[in-house]
Amino acid sequence: MTQEAIAELKALLGPRGWLEGEDAATYTQDIRGTYKGDALLVVRPTSTEEVSGVVKICNRHGIVIVPQGGNTGLCGGAIPRGNRPSIVLSVARMNKIISVDPLRYSVTAEAGCIVQTIHDAAAEVDRAFALDWGARGSAVIGGAISTNAGGINVLRFGNTRDQVLGLEVVLPDGRIWNGLRALRKDSSGYDMKHLFIGAEGTLGIVTKAVMRLHPRPLRDQTMYASVGDIERLMELFALARSVGDSNLTAFELIPGHMVDRAIAKYPVLTRPMETRAEWYVLVRFSGGEDITEKLETFFGEAAERGLLTDAALAQNMAQEKNLWDLRDEIPPLKLMTGKMLKWDTSVPIDRIIPFLAECEKVACAIHPPSKVIAFGHVGDGNLHMSIWPEGTIGEPVFDKLCKDIVSAIDNLIWQYGGSICAEHGVGVENYDRVQGQKSPLEFEMMAKIKQVFDPQNLFNPGKMFNPAYGDVKQAAE
Ligand SMILES: Cc1cc2nc3c(=O)[nH]c(=O)nc-3n(C[C@H](O)[C@H](O)[C@H](O)COP(=O)(O)OP(=O)(O)OC[C@H]3O[C@@H](n4cnc5c(N)ncnc54)[C@H](O)[C@@H]3O)c2cc1C
Repeated sequence: MTQEAIAELKALLGPRGWLEGEDAATYTQDIRGTYKGDALLVVRPTSTEEVSGVVKICNRHGIVIVPQGGNTGLCGGAIPRGNRPSIVLSVARMNKIISVDPLRYSVTAEAGCIVQTIHDAAAEVDRAFALDWGARGSAVIGGAISTNAGGINVLRFGNTRDQVLGLEVVLPDGRIWNGLRALRKDSSGYDMKHLFIGAEGTLGIVTKAVMRLHPRPLRDQTMYASVGDIERLMELFALARSVGDSNLTAFELIPGHMVDRAIAKYPVLTRPMETRAEWYVLVRFSGGEDITEKLETFFGEAAERGLLTDAALAQNMAQEKNLWDLRDEIPPLKLMTGKMLKWDTSVPIDRIIPFLAECEKVACAIHPPSKVIAFGHVGDGNLHMSIWPEGTIGEPVFDKLCKDIVSAIDNLIWQYGGSICAEHGVGVENYDRVQGQKSPLEFEMMAKIKQVFDPQNLFNPGKMFNPAYGDVKQAAE
């Protein structure tokens, strides 16, 4: 049966449409080499019709399909898992912009279109695209939609869900749903596109999308500033909001020791200012000529209130780029060695600082030299947080400690009303842990939706959630 399916897939797609063996290796592991899986074949269709054809063949033969975009998702969602016969379906060759419509403020693109390509296409018609993060040069729009990605502009524009106007999706039975609408308002019943956003390929394969564009600001300007009192971070953020209003487009927190590490490691980066501090913020205003004045007003008021101690304002494109390159190089995995426990967490913004203090306490109670490293999109309550259990201890003990720390911190995040998956999705990394985040009733609703769309569980099984979490008996309790 399997051999028959492989032959049918190869015949459908032609010699350039599939890869196997060594040629397929980069598609069966993630970019960090953390997740590896087996695939009978990697298929690389070039059209929605080909995707539909692939799905119909797999449906007939009971073959699992793992959709893959740029493979930058960092939690194993795009890599086959388990022993069922599987293929990876890469949308990399479906990478075209279909149309850019400056009057409708929208762009229509194929699922494999790279995020940076959409930025470039928008800029050509004097529009801006909101989605932006470190992997902009390799992540694709289908992957961003399927993980409901966030990034540095969420504060101003919301996350991917807020940017999607319409979708085209191939369903698990191979039928094509054309929902490529560019409407801002439509109250005609269930809005089906939202089911596929953040679904991590478990309900359908996104093949095209209509995405929102925005007016292009005349310019962006970023201030790098040393924080006077981290306990008053939210006061600082509130001030940036009130001075910047809709000009405030990013508010990021960066620990000083990570700046030192990044500058030591990447000679191309320059230190924005000599003042050393435990914490810095990157505050970006976007708009017209008056943003410099507004940033200066913001700094003046913040310094007077002891919220900031010093600041460097980017004066040209090179300085602006240096600040954001510095931000992109901050992730601890790039700068530190040794076992690190990692969360992309969100908590209500006013609770970020007490939460961080509590994290260190909780981790240190389990393993005293644990160090908490947090940075990220504080403006939307989202922290990339790592815990570094320092010290040399024997492996088995160490693994047990790590497990205990993960479980204690997950619980703490939930106590604070937060999420352990604020960005990047659930994938494999958070598959078991996410059970504690939602009620059995919520999982039951998810399991029922999954059952309706994909009764054979062929679309990305073993990812995002375990349908058993929605066990009806548990839900009734
Ligand atoms: C350096 C770096 C910085 C990052 N910063 C951020 C950040 O600030 N904020 C943030 O949110 N994320 C961030 N990310 C991760 C980001 O989530 C991914 O880049 C993006 O969301 C997924 O893009 P991708 O195309 O690589 O998808 P993949 O990794 O290929 O896939 C992700 C998931 O979507 C599914 N999928 C992919 N394509 C489709 C499709 N067409 N239809 C259905 N399912 C599909 C896959 O099966 C998988 O479950 C970062 C990643 C890196 C490497």
